[in-house]
Amino acid sequence: MPELPEVETVMRGLEPVMMGQKIRYADIRRPDLRWPFPENMSQRLIGAKIVRLHRRSKYILCDLDSGETLLIHLGMSGRMTISHAGNESEDLLGNFQYKPSIPAKHDHVILDMQGGARISFNDARRFGAMDLIDTKNLFDHKLIKSLGPEPLGNEFNTPYLYSKLKGKAAPIKSALLDQRIVSGLGNIYVCESLWRAGINPKRLSGKVSRKKIDVLVPFIRDVLREAISAGGSSLRDHRQANGDLGYFQHSFAVYGREGKKCNSVNCSELIKRIIQSGRSSFYCSKCQK
Ligand SMILES: [Zn+2]
Repeated sequence: MPELPEVETVMRGLEPVMMGQKIRYADIRRPDLRWPFPENMSQRLIGAKIVRLHRRSKYILCDLDSGETLLIHLGMSGRMTISHAGNESEDLLGNFQYKPSIPAKHDHVILDMQGGARISFNDARRFGAMDLIDTKNLFDHKLIKSLGPEPLGNEFNTPYLYSKLKGKAAPIKSALLDQRIVSGLGNIYVCESLWRAGINPKRLSGKVSRKKIDVLVPFIRDVLREAISAGGSSLRDHRQANGDLGYFQHSFAVYGREGKKCNSVNCSELIKRIIQSGRSSFYCSKCQK
């Protein structure tokens, strides 16, 4: 499931083929994903120019010169793929005779850009979503309105997180997954941040000291920034490969490492896995208190 760094990577991968370009053709190949597509989606997209690409939480937002914003959510299994004109078409420039990929199974939305790139949204499980929103009302949209601050933004800091966790009985793990407290953090990066900060995922939110929160906040930013940077490198590799954006290999310190030795120096404890609110938590019982 894509988390914030993967979404950021997809957005950065789309930038060079979308920014400042018009959508030449939009092929909407089914009526819905998780929700129905907006009315006349294809007509509303065709001819519109992308004037800004940005991200809020796990939503990619493409502002159009028509005054609308295309919201893209990858859901559980959504993928964006870019295919380009083959080299042989270079001498046919201007004729739009590039060789786009043939739509694959589960390619539900295809955008052909003015510059010759074909962007395909593929989503086998269809938990993804796309919507068109008035740009001026973007932050009142139902999916965006109640989101907490971005973990990489200035609003997310020790005093803020401390005030949100104070008096809370829920485990710290669940509180950090609560999108109203901080938006875009998912299971993997919460596990990794808590391990780095030495906080047990079962610890009750209200019982995490301010000192510990002061340690945790920069670690949350670090794990995300490192993953975004890994995504950037994967993007450079992927461009030469199949154009599939945003899924890249990570090495995690705790996530997915149940029964393996803790990565901390001088610790020989084995990583444990427990289930919290239906999700796996991986942690070291010696390093995380
Ligand atoms: Zn350990």
